[in-house]
Amino acid sequence: MTQRRLDIITTGGTIASRSEGPMVPGEQLVSHVRKFFPDTEFNVHEICRKGSNQITTDLLWGIGSQVKKSFKDGANGVVITHGTDTLEETAYFLDLIAGPLGPIVVTGSMREFDSASPDGLANLVESCKVALEPVSAEYGVLVVMNDRIHLAREVTKVHSWLVDAIESPGVGPVGYAGKHGVKYTVKPLDRVHVEYTALVPPVDLIKAGLDSGARPIRALIEARSRGLVVESLGHGHLPPGLTECLVSAVKSNVPVVITTRCLSGGAPNPGTITESGFVTTDLSGAKARIKLMLALSVTNEPEEIAKMFAQYP
Ligand code: ASP
Repeated sequence: MTQRRLDIITTGGTIASRSEGPMVPGEQLVSHVRKFFPDTEFNVHEICRKGSNQITTDLLWGIGSQVKKSFKDGANGVVITHGTDTLEETAYFLDLIAGPLGPIVVTGSMREFDSASPDGLANLVESCKVALEPVSAEYGVLVVMNDRIHLAREVTKVHSWLVDAIESPGVGPVGYAGKHGVKYTVKPLDRVHVEYTALVPPVDLIKAGLDSGARPIRALIEARSRGLVVESLGHGHLPPGLTECLVSAVKSNVPVVITTRCLSGGAPNPGTITESGFVTTDLSGAKARIKLMLALSVTNEPEEIAKMFAQYP
């Protein structure tokens, strides 16, 4: 049997944290899973040892570059370990930039490395199993936590500390990875790959509230925001003062993307332009922000941006 190769890219997060003291090096994290895969060669690439609140757009680009390099150098699959706070953003970023390289899985944990019952090592083992299945590549980037396989586009953190914190609201997981092996329960969707050349910050995310006004938008435009993502109140509805100010943002060439503050459903007619000139999406606000930062590397035109938001993922 030819040896398979898995590259593990480590970045920190609770999966590498101890109750006290510094984070565990990537190599130590991976040393615990090697025994479960005797026929697999593991290569560890430690990008950083940080909480995911400290992941910057530069680090994000660095993680993407390492993923591409790993496949170029012969990896059969790549697993990224990451803090769960911004894991969904990193996973979706990779989903948008990676293209058809091979299986890519992002994982983390809710309990520390040295807790009485750590979930991190189990998550890492299951992630490696998923990354060793060639079919996994057809689903784009996947997030494996708690024996469940989620699409990067749909997954989100729904609880700030419970162990079953990761879900895909409205759609559920696409499969399971546990003691019975890797099983997909839905078919992969057709995907469109766009060659984005950079992440263009600053793109800002605003959540609408009852009677919330224009002040933050005015301040952001003055601070030269490159684009705005707004979580509307429901199915695209905004307080009137906010709409007015967003219309003037579009007129001054700051693209505006509208989604919802609801857990699922998005704005009406995702991937189109409203009469006010806003791009609509059913992505979460956090993920729409990642996509807009990438889209701005290609175009500033709302019509062109809407086309990218119409494409899957
Ligand atoms: N502090 C963590 C983070 O880096 C939370 C976690 O990993 O679960 O996001």
